[in-house]
Amino acid sequence: MNKLIILAALAFGFACKSQQNVAVKDTSVQAYELSQYIEENEIKEMLYTYASDEFKGREAGSEFEYIATEYIRDFYKDLGIAAAPGTQDYYQLIPQGTYSRLSGDANNVVAYLPGTDKADEVIVLSAHLDHLGVHNGKTYNGADDDGSGTIAIMNIAKAMKKASDKGIKPRRTIVFLHVTGEEKGLYGSHYYAENPLLPLENTITNLNIDMIGRVDDEHKNDEDYLYLIGSEMLSKELKQVSDEVNNKHFKMNFDYRFDAPNDPNRFYYRSDHYNFAKNGIPVIFYFNGTHDDYHKDSDTADKINYPLLTKRTKLIFATAWTLANRENKPALD
Ligand SMILES: [Zn+2]
Repeated sequence: MNKLIILAALAFGFACKSQQNVAVKDTSVQAYELSQYIEENEIKEMLYTYASDEFKGREAGSEFEYIATEYIRDFYKDLGIAAAPGTQDYYQLIPQGTYSRLSGDANNVVAYLPGTDKADEVIVLSAHLDHLGVHNGKTYNGADDDGSGTIAIMNIAKAMKKASDKGIKPRRTIVFLHVTGEEKGLYGSHYYAENPLLPLENTITNLNIDMIGRVDDEHKNDEDYLYLIGSEMLSKELKQVSDEVNNKHFKMNFDYRFDAPNDPNRFYYRSDHYNFAKNGIPVIFYFNGTHDDYHKDSDTADKINYPLLTKRTKLIFATAWTLANRENKPALD
């Protein structure tokens, strides 16, 4: 082999290596940059609306559920984000009688952003749209539970649409799944998993958000935190990607204490991600922990920490965007 060929080979090797590094770096850097489209003012305004008395506590299957579902649907419609295939005008109907504690028809609201060269692989972002309704004249507004997750997903979707309109599209397909009936027994996510609108076998990850707008007693002196649950149960690589996005760009303190298999709180089983995890789909459940207003009529919009909710929303955006665009899907262990 002559020197020239060796030099050429070396140069080629370096080129490949640096190109690869650039590609890896670009995914999370771009994700972080695009996450800055998300605005605190908009999150705040939307959550004050969504958790107002006019929404009547958003009880699944009640005569008032439509107030929440129409609000979510109209948001996607106005932005030009498409309805997921198989929906009726963004609605996935769960007929009355499907589940014991549903007193009427209920609906999931599902929008999606199709991917480009890996469009058949799907990431589902989920949050429950329902809360506890009105009881004894008290409206349960559920600002944190789960107004925070609902509004987070809507703002993530809006930022992704804005990027797409500028020609920066996700490689994988992203589904924005607003499930109903969580408070009555994870009904909406159960129904979706039984009647998936995009194939579960191609669903590579579910990121579920349920309560991310508050600070619990454990973290009064360390507000810059978030509990992550389940992130390495099915794929260690998913946790690695999630940690990498955080450590590079957000530096939030991820708290994994609820990940212990014998944790008495059993949070892994207690929100909508479980209906994906039980089907072998890797999940991350994002959660701020419980607080004095949990499941009380005092879970109101004025108690939300908006800068923190916005930062957590950006972090989840960047994680989703990185997962949607990196070369490999998280490997199952
Ligand atoms: Zn909840």
